[in-house]
Amino acid sequence: MNIHEYQGKQIMSDFGVPVPKGFVAYSVDEAVEAAKKLDSSVTVVKAQIHAGGRGKAGGVKIAKNLDEVRTYADEILGKTLVTHQTGPEGKEVKRLLIEEGCDIKSEYYVGLVLDRATSKVTMMASEEGGTEIEEVAEKTPEKIFKEVIDPVTGMTPYQARRLAFNINIPKEAVGKAVKFMLGLYDVFVQKDCSIAEINPLVTTGDGNVLALDSKLNFDDNALYRQKDIADLRDFDEEDPKEVEASNFDLSYIALDGNIGCMVNGAGLAMATMDTIKHYSGDPANFLDVGGGATTEKVTEAFKIILSDDNVKGIFVNIFGGIMKCDIIAEGVVEATKQIGLTLPLVVRLEGTNVEAGKKILDESGLNITSADSMANGAQKIVELVK
Ligand code: ADP
Ligand code: MG
Repeated sequence: MNIHEYQGKQIMSDFGVPVPKGFVAYSVDEAVEAAKKLDSSVTVVKAQIHAGGRGKAGGVKIAKNLDEVRTYADEILGKTLVTHQTGPEGKEVKRLLIEEGCDIKSEYYVGLVLDRATSKVTMMASEEGGTEIEEVAEKTPEKIFKEVIDPVTGMTPYQARRLAFNINIPKEAVGKAVKFMLGLYDVFVQKDCSIAEINPLVTTGDGNVLALDSKLNFDDNALYRQKDIADLRDFDEEDPKEVEASNFDLSYIALDGNIGCMVNGAGLAMATMDTIKHYSGDPANFLDVGGGATTEKVTEAFKIILSDDNVKGIFVNIFGGIMKCDIIAEGVVEATKQIGLTLPLVVRLEGTNVEAGKKILDESGLNITSADSMANGAQKIVELVK
């Protein structure tokens, strides 16, 4: 789960990680009120969307007085920002962060992720802050420094110091940078983050170290014990189909193609998408209905797939292990009847009770094409949607 910059900064601040003073605003008037409260010589108006790259896209503006705050707030609120992280359709801005402008001396990058190769949390840092870190990683990887953190000791002050020296934080600010990094590590671990990225972390003219940006992502599987984080979820930022799917415990990710996929098991879902691609088709989604799919769940899954206008056909690829094929077949028939499906539907069943399952499909009188392998099914649906 992703949250907004202003929410991330609040959490960091609770852990003693310094951030500029700021307030969220939902309207132009609220933005001006916030700026009055800040009473700083320079105020920054920042679009709050779940994507980075806002600066380059015109979503971060520096205002020198209240009139400018009003002008920029009016300009950014309601605007659809297109950044390298939003996709071409962009994201509409519904909230602003009104923040104290800060006297930047240098910009750095600091990020925490779980490194799957070492199975440990790793802090990365670079003196090339403010820019796209992906570009630094590609062109000058030697400018990114890493510290692999032992889960037993946690991040040690020694590791933070070494990072601070490696990225050339000025000597007088090293102590503050170390405190910053250790605090950020605490946020990451205690809040069950999957990513904590600060780009840029800055040193200021008056010798402070601050987070000017904040990107915190959280492990969905830990949200049950992070209620305060779960409450920060902003449904405006999510695909409504994905929200609906999560209500029914379905793992669904919308994609750009035209073949809807209904599969059980994440691995099989990935393989199904690859196989469709192999036969020059394009999957419209990833969908894992899980091990215990009921008729109700299968029906919901169909509805969600069909709410995507790009879908021109559906491929159901089910392996009956815990789930029995005849139960799935009943679900497919029932769902197809309920929804009045008119698009081509290819079903491939394999596993427990497969014969009974196929019989149900054949005798349903519905226009269902059955397939006897994943490759065969993928070929058939690609052919049918042409
Ligand atoms: P994004 O990464 O989405 O472009 P950032 O929050 O990193 O957004 O802001 C982009 C740039 O705007 C920063 O690199 C920094 O130079 C400037 N900026 C952001 N917040 C402030 C602030 N409070 N004071 C001064 N400059 C800022
Ligand atoms: Mg940034």
